[in-house]
Amino acid sequence: MGKIQFQAESKRLLEMMINSIYSQKEVFLRELISNASDAIDKIYYKALTDENLIFNKEDYFIKIVPNKKDRTLRIIDTGIGMTREELETNLGIIAQSGSLAFKKENEIKDGHDIIGQFGVGFYAAFMVADVVTVISKALESDQAYKWESEGADGYTIVPSEKDEVGTEIILKIKENHDEESYDEYLDEYRLKAIIKKYSDFIRYPIKMDITGK
Ligand code: ADP
Ligand code: MG
Repeated sequence: MGKIQFQAESKRLLEMMINSIYSQKEVFLRELISNASDAIDKIYYKALTDENLIFNKEDYFIKIVPNKKDRTLRIIDTGIGMTREELETNLGIIAQSGSLAFKKENEIKDGHDIIGQFGVGFYAAFMVADVVTVISKALESDQAYKWESEGADGYTIVPSEKDEVGTEIILKIKENHDEESYDEYLDEYRLKAIIKKYSDFIRYPIKMDITGK
């Protein structure tokens, strides 16, 4: 299957992320956790009006799974998930709320700490990963799909397997090179510190599984 190209605007932001011009790469985790939390919110609000849908608090959580051996970091949520179409529109095009607003502000202020204040969105994952895989099963769908991208030259979407509704993001963490080390994003304690710093207010439990499961 051929690669689908990103929209021009998205491609520009993506290139900025890949080239890691931002000093605070750690914010990628804040962005992915905030998306996971938003996705759980969506199920929660749906359950308020849909009597067929019951929101059991203990079923909704975010799980962070570092694996040093595979050099992967997974961010798993039990949120509303994405259909094939949603994977395409939501991850192939810059979302209006966070990313674009950040870009506009950035053009004016040109500060280095700006990234800590604005949402940069999903593409922030490319600051620390050279392959990003998203496996998602939407609440409304029986079929799961896998979105995958190595960056600016596009992405693929193929049918996939997933039992539970929700989304799993797999980051293939970059290899260390020159002065740049990425090992810290696989380290349990460093990850916990990043979560504490940026995601302390998240209303759903953030679990960490260091057994790689
Ligand atoms: P924003 O969160 O500001 O909308 P993002 O770039 O962070 O922008 O995310 C783009 C969109 O992708 C989100 O609005 C959402 O629709 C979708 N998305 C991202 N991550 C998830 C997830 N874990 N579960 C469901 N949808 C997601
Ligand atoms: Mg977001």
